[in-house]
Amino acid sequence: MGEFELIRRFFASAACAAGGEGVALGIGDDCALLHVPPGEQLAISTDTLVAGVHFPLDADPFLLGQRALAVSVSDLAAMGATPVAFTLALTLPDARADWLDGFARGLCAMAQDCRIALVGGDTTRGPLCLTLTVFGRLPVGLALRRSGARPGDLLCVGGSLGDGAGALPLVLGERQDTGPEAQYLLQRYWAPQPQLALGEALRGRATAALDISDGLLADCGHIARASGVALMVESARLPLSDALQALFPRDFALNCALAGGDDYRLAFTLPAAELAAVQADWPDVAVIGRVEAGQGVHLLDVAGAELQPPALGYQHFGSQGD
Ligand code: ADP
Ligand code: MG
Repeated sequence: MGEFELIRRFFASAACAAGGEGVALGIGDDCALLHVPPGEQLAISTDTLVAGVHFPLDADPFLLGQRALAVSVSDLAAMGATPVAFTLALTLPDARADWLDGFARGLCAMAQDCRIALVGGDTTRGPLCLTLTVFGRLPVGLALRRSGARPGDLLCVGGSLGDGAGALPLVLGERQDTGPEAQYLLQRYWAPQPQLALGEALRGRATAALDISDGLLADCGHIARASGVALMVESARLPLSDALQALFPRDFALNCALAGGDDYRLAFTLPAAELAAVQADWPDVAVIGRVEAGQGVHLLDVAGAELQPPALGYQHFGSQGD
């Protein structure tokens, strides 16, 4: 199968490549064309997933396609943007039809869930690697940036934390478990749901936001730095799923929530006056702390005393390996 047949068969003819609102021209020309309505701007984000670094080499291709798009679209949610289109740069060691079929089906299932259209990409031979670029739109001036948190704001998250990290031993085959709790964690890992509706609802309300990919404390550090404030995280208020608590001792579950990555929940700062309206529509939104004058991220126990945080989130080229 040649490059062009591969593109046609698995991607250009897929349902998620049929265009959509905001797509003027999709796959097949030198560039895709997107409409940007007056008063709106494009939000753009790129993520690369490398086999053996971000996912196991033998990962199920359907699950991989689903997850690759979900983690990219999560960046749009974190900005408060509405998905429009994405491109896929695919590097493959060989063109195996069964692998490509599963991968394209998983990718398209998530694309249709998120209402985002595949509009282009690139296909090359080499070690398995995926680069996805997502495009979203949002009204000028309403993007949820990391830099607007103010002392007095509440620190909130969009739902349970730690499920992604709790799933890792199962994903890596270090732990065998087929029970319902394990299934729940695996589902959270392989098909995280980008919090798009929550992100859109936070436009004009939240003062800062991001999606948690590297671990709560590490990602909160980005908000603290960009906003020039201190974030106080109260460990007793972290929402943990029933599944995570059923499968692991409390200390391990808490560490997953604090320092594990792969949650793709939104973390955001919110003026207290906005909380009731947000929680009325999103009951899973939890207050986990507050913003104060100062700097850095501080972990507090029930009595308000500062705790030593567990090792911070994963960093490529960082001191914890690469
Ligand atoms: P070019 O030579 O201009 O780089 P290509 O031959 O790489 O174009 O691609 C032909 C068309 O197919 C382009 O519209 C490109 O965006 C699209 N395309 C290539 N690879 C993929 C892919 N993996 N998924 C979706 N579209 C792709
Ligand atoms: Mg090309």
